[in-house]
Amino acid sequence: MIPENVIRQIEAIVGPEQVLTSPEECWTYAYDATDQAHAPEAVVFPGSAEEIARIVRLANEHRFPVTPRGAGTGRSGGAVPIEGGVVLVLTRMNRILEINPADLVAVVEPGVILGRLKREVEDRGLYYPPDPASAEFCTIGGNVAECAGGAVAVQYGVTRDYVLGLTVVLPTGEIIDAGSRTMKGVVGYDLTRLFLGSEGTLGVITRIILKLAPKPAARQTLAAAFGTLAAAAQAVGQILTAGLAPTALEFMDRVTLGCVRELLPFKVPEAAAALLLVAVDGHPHDVEERAAAIARFCEEQGATPVLRARTAAEAEDLWKARKVISPALLKVKPNKVSEDVVVPLGEIPALIDGLQAISRRRGLLIPCYGHAGDGNIHVNVLYDRKVEREREAVNPTVVDIFALTRELRGTLSGEHGIGLTKAPYLKMELSEAAMALQQRLKRAFDPNRIMNPGKIFPGLRAR
Ligand SMILES: Cc1cc2nc3c(=O)[nH]c(=O)nc-3n(C[C@H](O)[C@H](O)[C@H](O)COP(=O)(O)OP(=O)(O)OC[C@H]3O[C@@H](n4cnc5c(N)ncnc54)[C@H](O)[C@@H]3O)c2cc1C
Repeated sequence: MIPENVIRQIEAIVGPEQVLTSPEECWTYAYDATDQAHAPEAVVFPGSAEEIARIVRLANEHRFPVTPRGAGTGRSGGAVPIEGGVVLVLTRMNRILEINPADLVAVVEPGVILGRLKREVEDRGLYYPPDPASAEFCTIGGNVAECAGGAVAVQYGVTRDYVLGLTVVLPTGEIIDAGSRTMKGVVGYDLTRLFLGSEGTLGVITRIILKLAPKPAARQTLAAAFGTLAAAAQAVGQILTAGLAPTALEFMDRVTLGCVRELLPFKVPEAAAALLLVAVDGHPHDVEERAAAIARFCEEQGATPVLRARTAAEAEDLWKARKVISPALLKVKPNKVSEDVVVPLGEIPALIDGLQAISRRRGLLIPCYGHAGDGNIHVNVLYDRKVEREREAVNPTVVDIFALTRELRGTLSGEHGIGLTKAPYLKMELSEAAMALQQRLKRAFDPNRIMNPGKIFPGLRAR
């Protein structure tokens, strides 16, 4: 329990109107986009790095947990304050401090909503590529903490590839700058990268320097419906190996397609077993040629129809359908566990076959969709919590999925992180020595274990 006088001290730091302590209000910050929940004792909306540093120092003195939170859209329980304490909500720190076309950088506070940043950057003829499906409601701080990816990672990479520098409040209360606003830099260890994907366990990110790209001159989007998953996989392989450099290469399987069919701006045959959604960016002539070649590969594999979006609005409708897949799957079953495994490109067909075998063996539907272009497949285990057989089959199914992924030399998570939900499976990927080194790092940053405890390494004790 955080003593009453400590709550008063926090109120004195941020202002009493920026602190919530009633159980009802605290429960609204107990969740993220998983089915995990735990209420904090207080919810605090800081306005600056200095305020955060003072709260963190209090946390060390009185040993209460501090869990950073952006928009709470995380898919692994990272923002769920599983051990109580204070949730630090960063959404008040939402200024875009600078967009500098000469340096090709933007400097932002962590609470900026990604979609807003992308639009403001594009208004200046520039481009910030990472585009998770949650762009309209997640924060850039959460993107850095999870190393968010998204559809255009195939060409442009993930959040990690766009973060030049960070300001971070360490779990011990010091404020540090990591990295720089230059395109290169090798002074000391690469602490910036260490914070990328650190899930709020190594510090609170309070300022981010981002690398920008020029806005692509043209983009084309195509959709192609296939009679079999194997034909779609064949087309993916051809597109990737022919040097057509797709910007995005997404696929949906039959169940997924069924959930978003009516949102698509064209009629997809009932018999379609898979849909590919492809984008290409670049110079208008080059884009035209690459899009035509991609359409040809799809047709050769029997895809019908193959649609090339004629207008930006039509392309946007295609991407909108893609972005709502995750909630749309709940039409099929009321509960789901979403995994985001990655396998080497050549192993995608083996992953899909293996998932179908697991689905038959465990008696649960496992629809898949996602980033066929980089091997990051969103694997969804659908179930009904009220049906005992289904509920009890979920964990063994997840273990089977991870075992298959490791067999195929893949990794457990491409962009959603470990948090709470994947922590029990970490040993399936990390060796004992690698785990021990990571735990030593965590202790070096956070000797009193106050920063987002219970995540990634739940059993870890204070030093
Ligand atoms: C419908 C839907 C679609 C999605 N699609 C994608 C997708 O395509 N690609 C993808 O990568 N992800 C996707 N996600 C997952 C999620 O949106 C991302 O992980 C996002 O980066 C989380 O941002 P957030 O602001 O909601 O962070 P939160 O959920 O609030 O927090 C996530 C983690 O970051 C930490 N954190 C947050 N802010 C800070 C900070 N300032 N300093 C330190 N730590 C911090 C938290 O402690 C927590 O561990 C999707 C989620 C949903 C619900």
